[in-house]
Amino acid sequence: MVIMVMGVSGSGKTTVGQLLAGKLGWPFYDADDFHPPANIEKMRQGTPLTEEERVPWLAALHNLPVRRVTVRNQRSRWGSCSRRGTISLNWRLVQAPDFVRDYIVLHELAHLKEMNHSRRYWGEVARLCPDFPAAECWLKQHSILLA
Ligand SMILES: [Zn+2]
Repeated sequence: MVIMVMGVSGSGKTTVGQLLAGKLGWPFYDADDFHPPANIEKMRQGTPLTEEERVPWLAALHNLPVRRVTVRNQRSRWGSCSRRGTISLNWRLVQAPDFVRDYIVLHELAHLKEMNHSRRYWGEVARLCPDFPAAECWLKQHSILLA
């Protein structure tokens, strides 16, 4: 089991996470420690990360082997994953809220384990992104954005 402590910068996530981990006797990981130095420098300067910079970080958090990330114009889907480990994202995702963008990325990363939409695949998605039904719902309601 994993407990994620989330919040805006400076809200005390690290303190709460370390205290919680100590109480439970669990290991504590700071997600920022999984960023390469270049990402940390950008964030320190207040520059938002691109999807090409965020996806390898999300993959590293889940110990998944992404090889390449591309953002391009796709007409019929939000993202895709090749057998060789390339994640392709639709540039239209900039219109989606963060939780939906993260879901699309995690959906594609889950394909690194299961290249299908089987029951086992959706179990992996639920593990990586427990609130994925809300993101799926948003995508259905906003499918016009894909056109
Ligand atoms: Zn899929």
